[in-house]
Amino acid sequence: MVYGILCAMDEEFGILENEIAEKEVTEIYSRRFISGKINGQRVVAAVSRIGKVAAAFTTAVLIEKFKVDALVFCGIAGGLGDNVKIGDIVIGTGCVQHDFYLSDSDFFRIPLLNISNIPCDKALSEKCLNAAAEFCKGEKTKEITEFFASVNVKEPKVHTGIIASGDQFISSDQKRLWLKENIENVMCCEMEGAAVAQAAFEAGVPCAIIRVISDSADGDAEVSFDKFVSAASLYSSAIIKNLFK
Ligand code: SAH
Repeated sequence: MVYGILCAMDEEFGILENEIAEKEVTEIYSRRFISGKINGQRVVAAVSRIGKVAAAFTTAVLIEKFKVDALVFCGIAGGLGDNVKIGDIVIGTGCVQHDFYLSDSDFFRIPLLNISNIPCDKALSEKCLNAAAEFCKGEKTKEITEFFASVNVKEPKVHTGIIASGDQFISSDQKRLWLKENIENVMCCEMEGAAVAQAAFEAGVPCAIIRVISDSADGDAEVSFDKFVSAASLYSSAIIKNLFK
């Protein structure tokens, strides 16, 4: 069993790399694929780069070349759900491409697949939920405690629901409300989840998407994102380590 682990940005991957033992690095198409073990579990980890094309492309390499049996993406996102706060964690039940638009009466639907909500794997998502919940409840490192204080995160919670993905940084009330109105049970927005989920779905590889809320996808999103991003890998490394305990 080999897990593919993905983040979109170097900042999300960061200290997670230190957790990988017996490391072997292969460079393909400007991406570093790091094979090794986390807590004894075989993994291949990579930074996909930002956006749906980059993410789908990296996922395809993980599946086709590295033969991963399951995929877990961990990154940051803008919060959309009513009770979803900065610092909280969202586990996707499914992902929607919010910028997929065929006509005014037909959007989000992926032709041929004929679905608009690309499902995530239930059992794997449940494991991620437990790993995230353990992070929220468990003892925190000094770095995490200090980071929480600096961004005013008190008791982060874990939510499950739909993840909206598109090639757009969402930072306006108009767009955030549009997403909330048009996507039932939407919890957060980001730029890669649906691409990873769709590539995995089409290949028949179980996939889970974990997102930590860095901003509220509103007028303050850029400032909030900038404050949060450098510490994003504190979350990913802790959650992924828990996943393979
Ligand atoms: N500022 C960076 C780009 C960041 S894009 C640069 O100029 O290089 C935002 C990244 O964080 C994406 O990988 C996306 O998945 C995630 N993200 C966080 N908040 C988001 C939001 N409000 N809207 C869309 N994506 C968001």
